[in-house]
Amino acid sequence: MSDLGSGVPPTAVSHTPAPAEIPVVSVRRCENYAPAAVRDAIVAALAPLGGVRRFVRPGMRVLLKPNLLSPAPWQRAVTTHPAVVQAVAELVIEAGGTVLIGDSPGGPISVTHEVWQTTGTARAAQQAGARLVPFDGVAWRRLNGSDYFIARPVVEADLVVNLPKLKTHAFAQYTGAIKNMFGAIPGKRKREAHFRAPGSAAFAQVLVDVLELTTPALTILDGVLGQEGNGPGLAGTPRWYGCVVASVDCVALDTAVARAMGFPPGRVAHLAAAGARGLGEADIDGVRVVDQARALDFGPVVLPGPRWYYRVPSWITRPLLGALRLRPIVDPSACSGCGRCAEVCPTDAVAFGRPPAFDSERCVGCMCCAEVCPQGAIESRRNLLTRLVGIGR
Ligand code: SF4
Ligand code: SF4
Repeated sequence: MSDLGSGVPPTAVSHTPAPAEIPVVSVRRCENYAPAAVRDAIVAALAPLGGVRRFVRPGMRVLLKPNLLSPAPWQRAVTTHPAVVQAVAELVIEAGGTVLIGDSPGGPISVTHEVWQTTGTARAAQQAGARLVPFDGVAWRRLNGSDYFIARPVVEADLVVNLPKLKTHAFAQYTGAIKNMFGAIPGKRKREAHFRAPGSAAFAQVLVDVLELTTPALTILDGVLGQEGNGPGLAGTPRWYGCVVASVDCVALDTAVARAMGFPPGRVAHLAAAGARGLGEADIDGVRVVDQARALDFGPVVLPGPRWYYRVPSWITRPLLGALRLRPIVDPSACSGCGRCAEVCPTDAVAFGRPPAFDSERCVGCMCCAEVCPQGAIESRRNLLTRLVGIGR
């Protein structure tokens, strides 16, 4: 997936060199967001991959792509923590690169500055000497018969470093490295992609298309404080996972992390689709987890569905999954009437109001409304069939 290859001899003496063809996923414990602890963990995680200078050459323009989904404080674990962004920016600058930091929030582009401030990303950029860039200009690309509009800072960068957040996702099940690159599509352009790919299988192909078009050379996942349950927005439950994870193969990274969370093989559709397309390693047996692999011993994680569902083979649950249709439900007492859910909806299924009204005929179940709701007032509800067999609420 990257022209940088997928494995180099490690620099730390404690690591056994991995065969070049086996993707390496490097894991480090990191229990909190103290700047020194975060930086040390990232440096250590990058060591088996060759260190940051393997990727960054003097004069390179490097785009850091954190998850900046919405203007949420870091304690809610919605966005990549600013300490992670700042540490990576400093390392890149020390290696001679110029750092740009950008992402497209879940709502309209107009909330970008609010997201930078609320999440602490603006301060992190200033302290590191990096520049924040809005994702407003686009470059057109066509792939697999579909048009994509990718943010210019992404396509014009010499190097893209992916900085995802470890979270569950009510629609996509899991959001880590692959899903994070969907933010390379600016603002309401994301609505178009959701609109033409309403089901989870079709949307998985969209996510894989975007990954193929953006080709991050390196991924460093913020798995210190992540989410479980009804992620990835404010309705998700923060949970300490206590690690950072790095790899040049973001599919392999997602494979290792999704397995650690308890997702069976094949259950995360976009992960399986990325592996099938040859963009990385989606088979856990083909991934080499190095350094502090025990840091991925998460214990039980609350997934978006009930536990039994993840123990049943995919060939049984796949028809149920096809019948599974998420629908948003709103808690009227929590709604502030801000209207962001209506702005982001790709099918115009939301009518402004406090609370808003949802048109179930138009709704395609993408849960973008829940992602951007600043009150965490929207949760997912599944259709009658799947509720009868116990999938979801
Ligand atoms: S109402 Fe929410 S879940 Fe339904 S299509 Fe609109 S954004 Fe997606
Ligand atoms: S449900 Fe959430 S996003 Fe929608 S109007 Fe209420 S507070 Fe705003």
